[in-house]
Amino acid sequence: MSFAQQDSIMIRNIFDKALNEGKAYEALTELCKDIGGRLSGSKEADEAVVWGKEKLQEFGLEPVYLQEVMVPKWTRGEPEVAHYAIKASKKPFDLAICALGGSVSTGIKGINAEVIEVKSLTELKDLGEAKVKGKIVFYNRPMRATIISTFRAYGGAVDQRVSGAKEAAKYGAIGVLVRSMSLKIDNEPHTGVMRYGDAETKIPAAAVSTLGAEELSKALVLHPDLQLYIKMSCKNHDEVLSHNVIGEIKGSEYPDEYIVIGAHLDSWDLGEGAHDDGAGIAHVAEAARILLEVGYQPKHTIRVVFYMNEENGIAGGKKYAQEASTKNEKHIVAIESDSGGFTPRGFGADAPKEFIEKLKSYSSLFEEYGLSYFGKGYGGADIGPLKEKMQTPLIGYIPDSQRYFDYHHASTDVLEVVNERELAMGAASIAALVYLLDKYEVK
Ligand SMILES: [Zn+2]
Repeated sequence: MSFAQQDSIMIRNIFDKALNEGKAYEALTELCKDIGGRLSGSKEADEAVVWGKEKLQEFGLEPVYLQEVMVPKWTRGEPEVAHYAIKASKKPFDLAICALGGSVSTGIKGINAEVIEVKSLTELKDLGEAKVKGKIVFYNRPMRATIISTFRAYGGAVDQRVSGAKEAAKYGAIGVLVRSMSLKIDNEPHTGVMRYGDAETKIPAAAVSTLGAEELSKALVLHPDLQLYIKMSCKNHDEVLSHNVIGEIKGSEYPDEYIVIGAHLDSWDLGEGAHDDGAGIAHVAEAARILLEVGYQPKHTIRVVFYMNEENGIAGGKKYAQEASTKNEKHIVAIESDSGGFTPRGFGADAPKEFIEKLKSYSSLFEEYGLSYFGKGYGGADIGPLKEKMQTPLIGYIPDSQRYFDYHHASTDVLEVVNERELAMGAASIAALVYLLDKYEVK
């Protein structure tokens, strides 16, 4: 039997296990329904750490242990309130908003001001203090619908959310409202991280639903002097102790060389963090379980890492890389699943050319399972520090991206929008890739 035949039989076994008797969806159900949203520093995040450790033990990894990491803590507080008023009407118009992660509160009375709409940070700069001072800046540049990878469209719009408040404060704005990072027009606000950096003045920042953004924009054309009211009671606290969860399958030939498969255990507080990144957690735990189930004995140590605090700090990813480099641990490759639980499309590598060529050579083995993209790509936020510190080659799992941002960071990111078969296919794809990387490591 040729090597290629052996490999395709092994990969068939892996997919059969995932599809006939998979446990990824069950694991995701527990994480979503027993725990739910699990923002760093919350009670739910602590519960997720306990759950994660038990789950990896149950799946047969040995040893399973925790790695301490200090994480930021931010709380949303009371449900946010926003409405705008026009002179001709006595009744204000409600807007669906949510505070952005890391934002300061508006104070108990809220803020009330005129609105200046902009499409970009550059436009804000051009308007300057004369047009911005004392107002609420409304960032309303949509994600571009024509970009096929929605992650790329997100990357092209998210500067408004991350840096909008910091930039607007420079010109005397008293708050910002940012159009949600979603291509779908609905009434769900999507949260996400914002940063003040070295800003002297910290002003509150909220996301408004895409529908709300469209309505507000239209209202501003007719009533440029309308008044917007926002009230939020979110708060930044001191850092707290949390943990990464790590489990291993010891390598038979090179136990001190590691293949890392990871995802992030924390999520935003809205919704259940199902696609982001419960699906990734289920993928990597299940991939390890399947490799054990099919009786594969890896040459290198497979390390499953559940990172804490990807959403608002990446403290877990940084801590893991710091420890790995202090101990001078050899990392062959790090794989991350943080793009949702949809149908697998392929893998992208952030690595030297020879590594990418090797990855490409695996693609024919995945054809019958529908994966077609094997090439250059993005690794992942949690594994990024491994490349920075130790030049570890990175691989990101790529599922279909068309629906991801419908749910991303919103209260709609719940178990019910994850499909069991699609999730299982993702876990099998990752297990198959780990098998190939372990067997045919690029030295
Ligand atoms: Zn994520």
